Amino acid sequence: MSLRKKLIAGNWKMNKTAADGVALVADIVAAAGKQNDVEVVVCPPFTGLESAAAKLEGSTVKLGAQNMHPEASGAYTGEISAGMLRALFVSHVILGHSERRSYFHESDAFINQKVLAALKAQLKPILCVGETLAERESGSTLKVVQTQLEAGLEGVSKDLATNVVIAYEPVWAIGTGKVASTEQAQEVHAFIRSLLVKLFGDAIAQKVRILYGGSMKPANAPELLAQKDIDGGLIGGASLEARSFVELVTAAIAIK
Ligand code: PEP
Repeated sequence: MSLRKKLIAGNWKMNKTAADGVALVADIVAAAGKQNDVEVVVCPPFTGLESAAAKLEGSTVKLGAQNMHPEASGAYTGEISAGMLRALFVSHVILGHSERRSYFHESDAFINQKVLAALKAQLKPILCVGETLAERESGSTLKVVQTQLEAGLEGVSKDLATNVVIAYEPVWAIGTGKVASTEQAQEVHAFIRSLLVKLFGDAIAQKVRILYGGSMKPANAPELLAQKDIDGGLIGGASLEARSFVELVTAAIAIK
């Protein structure tokens, strides 16, 4: 059995009112809220965190946010800090998602500040990395992933490295229905693991979870999740319905 517990995280993006979120969480908790074989995280929009937290109480399902600002407080209109997330019982935070990188021009350096601030506040960052279609076609996938990973993890200590989760999300596969082949995904995951070995040593690298994200669905999940270095999924579209999300959790439990 792997040293790494599989993790299935749902990124709801800008979907669901607080009330819709509570209904979704209730269904997820009813179907998967007692099991402990796989770590399950739901990431509603900020407006749904508090009500989702109340619904998750007493279950094994954890709460994540989709973003945060690196500063603890201050004049950053519209932003949310790590401390504010912690106060809402958030345990994980997605950082550096490709939509934040492209639409909001987030740089690797800024994402790195967030990773460090999240760890300092005892939040687990889910650091997203991945290449665009043009980058894949020009043969620069591994170089892009290396740059994003090394810059995103700059200054992370060995002590805290196992609190980080990496999500490999090829941009061309996100929300497009085009999933990376198992070979394409495993190749990049193994490469990320080798970079983690260089950064933190083998023992720590073997404990860091590397999720795949990009059109993961119940139909393609079993094969992806069976790969040696694929430790779970960051799920967009299929996390918006309890049935498909729970099927993904079930697929992960079957492989463990
Ligand atoms: C995502 O945005 O993190 C994602 C993986 O989306 P989807 O599953 O819809 O491709």
